[in-house]
Amino acid sequence: MPNNDKNDKNGNTITVPFLNLQDVNRPYMGEMAAVAEQIIQSGWYIRGSACTTFERQFADYCGVEHCVGVGNGLEALTLTLNAWQILGKISPGSEVIIPGHTFIATALAVIDSGLTPVFVDVVDDTFLLSTNEVAAAITERTAAVVAVHLYGRPVDVDPLKQLCDANGLLLLEDAAQAHGAKYKGRRSGSLGDAAAFSFYPGKNLGALGDGGAVTTNDNELADCIRSLGNYGSAEKYVNIYAGRNSRLDDLQAAFLSIKLRHLDDDNEHRRRVASRYAKEITNPAVCLPTCVRGLEHAWHLYVVRVQSRHRFQKHLEQQGIATSVHYPIPPHKQVAFPALQHISLPTTEAMHREVVSLPISPAITEPQVQAVIDAVNLYRTSPSP
Ligand SMILES: *Cc1c(COP(=O)(O)O)cnc(C)c1O
Repeated sequence: MPNNDKNDKNGNTITVPFLNLQDVNRPYMGEMAAVAEQIIQSGWYIRGSACTTFERQFADYCGVEHCVGVGNGLEALTLTLNAWQILGKISPGSEVIIPGHTFIATALAVIDSGLTPVFVDVVDDTFLLSTNEVAAAITERTAAVVAVHLYGRPVDVDPLKQLCDANGLLLLEDAAQAHGAKYKGRRSGSLGDAAAFSFYPGKNLGALGDGGAVTTNDNELADCIRSLGNYGSAEKYVNIYAGRNSRLDDLQAAFLSIKLRHLDDDNEHRRRVASRYAKEITNPAVCLPTCVRGLEHAWHLYVVRVQSRHRFQKHLEQQGIATSVHYPIPPHKQVAFPALQHISLPTTEAMHREVVSLPISPAITEPQVQAVIDAVNLYRTSPSP
């Protein structure tokens, strides 16, 4: 049973999990079980009507013409970059500009597609890439920019899109953390030439397994990605591309249709939690994320910065609060990429030393939020005398 009191019956401080997916999905259990039964009965499990229905709903939700369901978020990014090469919009070996501060998948997708990632440092108070940094990184080999709406905060897209248009660059959104986020009234997924989403269980719109999608207004791109994810064929046993298998299955699509109806409410809950943290966390040792007007942050993560992360996390743990770090090692410093080690991105690297994610989710309760606030405000940088 979730404990909604500040203290349990033994007077112990409540425990706040970082993210409890059982609590997140419990409200949909009945509906999910019913559609699962329908799908099992239907005998059609991949690219059936549940998938088509969800694709239509999600495209409408994002405000674009097409949504193509794929296997996961990494595939959504990779297939888009591959399709642009097949369609002659990116030439092989081109450079793709990405933020240094991101989840590893952004970099992997560029490398997997045979393209060269060019990392740019992020801006201190937004955690995101800036148009100025991107402009400085453009060379004659640059073909595209990936705008990662990290933690759910939309990138300032208007100036970036202008820059891309002026230089003939494609703009791909990595919206894996930003389902439902809005920039000047427009949804993430509709802000670039294409967008990649992940439906990994912990995301704002999460399935009960892996899933992903690409959204775009480009017919040709949507058709190409749909074929690429289906062995390179649009017609059975006729292969026009050397494709792969990357599809969204009907069970996941049906679960996602159920949860999509509640996404705005879930994000609203996250926003209320974020605004309580912003107002009520008053500890000067803890640097809070900023937000500006015109942005509807999806608050996938609530990330603060502290000088002594280990001490801070230990303190919260002793108070019964779970935290996490997104992310401890930037992509360019990962053992997997020896060729990138020499790159220096001071702001990105400082963030990777200082960031801590506090609990935030559609299932977090008011007493839990209060417990987080109290525990954070109690933190002292040096032991009290
Ligand atoms: C989760 C995530 C991905 C990858 O999605 P998967 O479905 O896990 O492959 C890509 N980019 C970002 C920013 C993510 O958070």
